Amino acid sequence: MIRMPRTLLHVLPCFAAAAFSGSVMWSQTHVWTTQELFKRNVGTKEQQFTQFPPHKIIGNMYYVGTASLGSFLVVTPAGNILIDTTYERNVPVILKSVEQLGFKFSDIKIVLGSHAHADHQEGDALVKQLTGAQVMAMAEDVPALEKMTPGGKPHPIDRVLHDGDTVTLGGTTLVAHLTPGHTHGDTTWSAKIRDGGKTYDVVIIGSMGVNGSAQQLASNPAVIEEYEKGFEVSRGLPCDVPLGSHPAMYNLAEKYAELVKNPNGPNPFIDPQGYKNEIAIEEGAYRALLKEGQSAPGTK
Ligand SMILES: [Zn+2]
Repeated sequence: MIRMPRTLLHVLPCFAAAAFSGSVMWSQTHVWTTQELFKRNVGTKEQQFTQFPPHKIIGNMYYVGTASLGSFLVVTPAGNILIDTTYERNVPVILKSVEQLGFKFSDIKIVLGSHAHADHQEGDALVKQLTGAQVMAMAEDVPALEKMTPGGKPHPIDRVLHDGDTVTLGGTTLVAHLTPGHTHGDTTWSAKIRDGGKTYDVVIIGSMGVNGSAQQLASNPAVIEEYEKGFEVSRGLPCDVPLGSHPAMYNLAEKYAELVKNPNGPNPFIDPQGYKNEIAIEEGAYRALLKEGQSAPGTK
């Protein structure tokens, strides 16, 4: 993180945006607040519930989510893996996307999640009902998931995962990395994905967003410890293709527009620098909030 005086930080983004009108310059100079990141990620109600055009990302990995809630399909000869069912009301949207890509919803054998918040995992019970898939979740998120019971349906958990556990189906292996803080069991998934004779490190960021106020964060050493671990793990992951529980984490809209404009060009989703930038943005917001909380009177 480059530290600059506050006044400069407010001037630079405008200058950068005007002079270069590029998101790269913006992301390198603008220190996002946690509220700004929350807004960027969650989007509008309409974005949360509106289908984003389903598409192949790379290799056997596809996007089947909405405009602001990520949902990913890994297609294998032994059936498919769905990562993040999002809100229960989005399940028909995801089903439609899976079918538009030419796959069967009933071929989903495993459901994984990014973290125990309703906008990412509320649909698990319904997807299990429709497909019979095995639902797997990080141990530290199980208590929160058990409280997620849309329409009275208990949250299914068929396998409890621990940091570093792997999930393999039909030759594709996903690794569960515990990146806590945002929730106790927040999970970043990584996989080696083959495409065009090469292997790419794909990372689906769980979420490193900060809940609550500066004071709440600063007065909670256990949560601070979780975030520190989460950022350390996130920084250490090799990544060629960044993805995330909210597609704004990897500039999906921009990258998809590029894909449509230039379908035979280089794959816009290959963006190792984009991963580093995003983790730096999230960490910058966290550190700024923590500093604010620690310097507030009465906080110890
Ligand atoms: Zn969340």
